[in-house]
Amino acid sequence: MPIWKNYYLARSVEDALLALASAQGPALPIAGGTDLLLDLQQGRHAPVDTLVDLNAIPEMNFIELRADALYIGAAAPLRLLAELALVNEHAQALVEACGQVGGPQVRNSATLGGNVAHALPAADGSIALAALDAQAEVAASTGRRRVPIGELYRGPGRSALVPGGEIVVGFYLPLRRRGQASTFQRVMRPQGVALPVLNMALWLRREGQVMADARLAVGPAGPVPFRARKTEEVLRGQPLNAETLAQAQTALLAEARFRTSPQRATAEYRQHLAGHLLAEVLEKVWQRTEE
Ligand SMILES: Cc1cc2nc3c(=O)[nH]c(=O)nc-3n(C[C@H](O)[C@H](O)[C@H](O)COP(=O)(O)OP(=O)(O)OC[C@H]3O[C@@H](n4cnc5c(N)ncnc54)[C@H](O)[C@@H]3O)c2cc1C
Repeated sequence: MPIWKNYYLARSVEDALLALASAQGPALPIAGGTDLLLDLQQGRHAPVDTLVDLNAIPEMNFIELRADALYIGAAAPLRLLAELALVNEHAQALVEACGQVGGPQVRNSATLGGNVAHALPAADGSIALAALDAQAEVAASTGRRRVPIGELYRGPGRSALVPGGEIVVGFYLPLRRRGQASTFQRVMRPQGVALPVLNMALWLRREGQVMADARLAVGPAGPVPFRARKTEEVLRGQPLNAETLAQAQTALLAEARFRTSPQRATAEYRQHLAGHLLAEVLEKVWQRTEE
């Protein structure tokens, strides 16, 4: 049995939604295909009637400033996001995340929309977007809406999008202001190319010698890309010193739900790494806020 019957190259978001709605059987959007095609080929996803290709939709490929936000089309390839100075100026964590996904071939095809819609708790792009407080623009036949990124996930591999009924058009990221910076770092198995053992993204706003505000995202540390809000609370209003770091490490270990995954790491190893990774991202962002 073929894994799909019809393949349709959409020219606009509305065209894509119509093609999805009018398919004779199950239909899904496809962008880079680096998750979906493997899932279909390896039987993790049931065959579909129609795949609707999003890559040729102009507004889903734009990367530009819009009012007070950086807009990133959901179908722009990760390779481009990792290269563009405009993205680096406002979203260093995203550049670092996209630059580490898979290898060059994967980054040439893979997209941020696919990374988010696939909804894995340690997806690198999703973790960076969480720390950057991104919003997604979601289109359905009834209209469009802006959704805070954290509301797009339901559980491992389950997004809140209506399958075949909703498309992520793009992402809006707050512009980076003076005293603000972000970073993304991850730990991989030496031979690994896919998801990391642990990843972390941190955004900070610094005022003088204190961290006035912080957003920390960690994966996998729960069923969805995890915002470590209690740890953020510990960091807020504090200077970066050994005492703050120790308190933040304790808070992170208390709130994150690290688990054992047979292919990648034990929960204990992830707990061990989390404290070190937190120290590294704090040090990195603190330095960047001085630049
Ligand atoms: C060898 C290899 C290495 C990898 N390494 C990493 C890694 O290091 N880190 C990492 O995070 N991931 C990794 N991945 C996973 C994958 O590359 C990423 O998740 C990628 O960003 C998915 O994007 P895509 O465009 O290929 O999605 P697709 O495969 O096209 O789609 C994935 C899912 O999202 C849906 N979808 C796609 N676009 C949209 C949209 N705009 N709106 C609504 N639904 C949409 C599809 O219907 C499908 O359900 C790896 C994959 C491979 C094969």
